[in-house]
Amino acid sequence: MLPAVRSYRTVIRHRRWLTAHTFQLEMARPDGFDFIPGQRIHLNVGEIGRDYSLVSSPRDQYLRLCIRHIPRGELTPKLLEIPIGESLRFFGPNGYFLFRASGKQPVFVATGTGIAPFVSMGLTGCRGFTLLHGIRKADERYYADVFQRAAEMYMTCITGPDPGGFESFPGRVTEYVAEALPVGEYDFYLCGRTEMIRDVTRIVDRRFPESRIFIELFF
Ligand SMILES: Cc1cc2nc3c(=O)[nH]c(=O)nc-3n(C[C@H](O)[C@H](O)[C@H](O)COP(=O)(O)OP(=O)(O)OC[C@H]3O[C@@H](n4cnc5c(N)ncnc54)[C@H](O)[C@@H]3O)c2cc1C
Repeated sequence: MLPAVRSYRTVIRHRRWLTAHTFQLEMARPDGFDFIPGQRIHLNVGEIGRDYSLVSSPRDQYLRLCIRHIPRGELTPKLLEIPIGESLRFFGPNGYFLFRASGKQPVFVATGTGIAPFVSMGLTGCRGFTLLHGIRKADERYYADVFQRAAEMYMTCITGPDPGGFESFPGRVTEYVAEALPVGEYDFYLCGRTEMIRDVTRIVDRRFPESRIFIELFF
């Protein structure tokens, strides 16, 4: 059964930059709040609210979010200005983007901060999956330590010119799925940009027709 959905108050405890454009926000975990890895919360500052997938594990005493700063966005600039110790309201947990073990090999595909639900799954004991993370620059490979431990195969797909000092694929995650992923039956979990999810879905229909697809659209 999914945890009950309700409104909570929390306190911002810590904030740190993961890259030049993405930060991690840590909040106190309110009494009674529970969630399943892959779920999200609806976070409010005043009247403005947005959805964020939880990157922390339900075993942790804090809640963590991985947030891309949108300079002209309505909410993310405010989340950078709020003083540590300030109280915030959120609603949740929401969503059904949960890991569903089956006989098929799980393939997690993320663009940018779309990695968030997979971090929570990896921290909470999910193992044996393939992870494809699409980023622009090598330094956007956040949470690599989690996937180096948890993933059976972890590939960073970099669209920018610098391949980084680690094994990476030069191109988009869509190209990896179309050209490099061996033919087989998979459970695909797609999270992030709409275009990526649309394009990967088309490739899966063509190359991996016996596979299943679960999706979480961020924008
Ligand atoms: C189910 C769900 C889960 C989400 N989880 C996360 C998460 O874990 N981390 C996160 O950073 N965002 C997440 N988002 C997006 C988030 O809800 C906001 O849309 C985002 O933070 C921008 O809010 P804003 O008010 O600053 O910008 P807005 O004024 O709402 O501007 C929105 C524009 O910003 C761009 N944008 C939005 N989100 C992103 C992003 N993640 N990366 C790059 N560009 C983006 C798009 O072009 C979009 O049109 C999620 C969205 C959904 C629907």
